[in-house]
Amino acid sequence: MDHFCYKDGRLLCEAVPVEDIVRHVGTPTYIYSKATLLTHYERIAQAFSPLNPIICYSIKSCGNLEILRSLRQQGSGFDVVSGGELFRALRAGADAGKIVFAGVGKSDQEINEALEAGIGLFNIESEEEFWNLDRLAAAKRVHARCALRVNPDVASAGTHAKTLTGKKETKFGVDIDRAGEFYRQARRANNARLCGLHLHIGSPIKTVDPYVSAITKALALIDQLGAEGIVIDTLDIGGGFAAFYEGNEAPPAATYAQAIVPLLAGRGLNIILEPGRSIACNAGILVTRVQYTKAGGSKRFIIVDAAMNDLIRPTLYESYHFIWPTNPGAHGVPANRLSTLRTPEDVKVDVVGPVCESGDYLAKERHLPVLKRGDLLAVFSAGAYGFAMSSQYNARPRAAEVLVDGSGWHIIRRRETYEDLIAGES
Ligand SMILES: *Cc1c(COP(=O)(O)O)cnc(C)c1O
Repeated sequence: MDHFCYKDGRLLCEAVPVEDIVRHVGTPTYIYSKATLLTHYERIAQAFSPLNPIICYSIKSCGNLEILRSLRQQGSGFDVVSGGELFRALRAGADAGKIVFAGVGKSDQEINEALEAGIGLFNIESEEEFWNLDRLAAAKRVHARCALRVNPDVASAGTHAKTLTGKKETKFGVDIDRAGEFYRQARRANNARLCGLHLHIGSPIKTVDPYVSAITKALALIDQLGAEGIVIDTLDIGGGFAAFYEGNEAPPAATYAQAIVPLLAGRGLNIILEPGRSIACNAGILVTRVQYTKAGGSKRFIIVDAAMNDLIRPTLYESYHFIWPTNPGAHGVPANRLSTLRTPEDVKVDVVGPVCESGDYLAKERHLPVLKRGDLLAVFSAGAYGFAMSSQYNARPRAAEVLVDGSGWHIIRRRETYEDLIAGES
């Protein structure tokens, strides 16, 4: 699952004790394991290799340049959702032909930047956007390959409403019953070529069935259009594969592939995947220090120096992140990362941050070993949508990011300073 393991009662990232990094870098700090990152990428690449797909890592899940460089060196392309992410991808040395660009509200400036870079595919979310792209591409005398994001109207059990995107009522894509007409109309375009179909049904999708039904619907549409002489040569099946928060809930990449590959093998389609969470989530932890402990009514609070501005997932999605001391001693090593984990002397606590919001918590009603001021805690499975969603709310400088590679490590984003907080203000 990952390379964060306890040895002799202390937490290591690969071969490096987490406390050693913190001694130099302080807290809160995101620590990533390069081996974990690349292992999860490789598992997907291997499992889907019969389709020879382009894997476009979703930058929004964890976009640090060094993370992107590591994946690019492994052969990854990138899924971007803004001009800023396109900038990151190019800075990381991405092959522009392996960049796909999604998003419901691409601005003219962003579209122009992507046209100038010569990206591989625009994932189109509305008729208006398509014709706008055609106009902008004509002005530059270039051609743009496009896929239509089709909303297949599939649901997924256990996916949070805020991250479910494949149902009819979401803002994403075009309803599948209107898509055929869209493709017919798009034939009139001169510079934008609608030659692909894009799906991204939400995240995390913990079973294969939603993929199977979405892809089956997409293939039926592709066949119907083919019969009319409209050729779709590219199918982008999006992201959304699950990751391990408790340690047992995500199907392996091979399980997704076993269901998906047979549907697509031998069809001659260019296949694109856009995994984010399934690559980055387990590659990162957030390390935080206990500031104070206190009782309030019947509750006990552990107040730490990381907050909702550092990791907003518990607040935003009611997400579970396993939390445990980095140095629990040989007898305190956790047996697993389940929400039900109990140990003999544990105490039920809320782990909260210093931000002025009741919603500022990392865990509620969690059974943890007895903690005291100064103890270090690791928040696991924080690599995806962790630092990437962080903010400076309450004028809190953002955390440092560190990448571990075997027995070596380096800072890949320095901790922000107070000056960073006001940079750009006048
Ligand atoms: C967010 C997103 C992804 C990645 O989703 P994960 O769950 O992180 O794999 C892929 N494609 C699109 C269009 C997205 O918006």
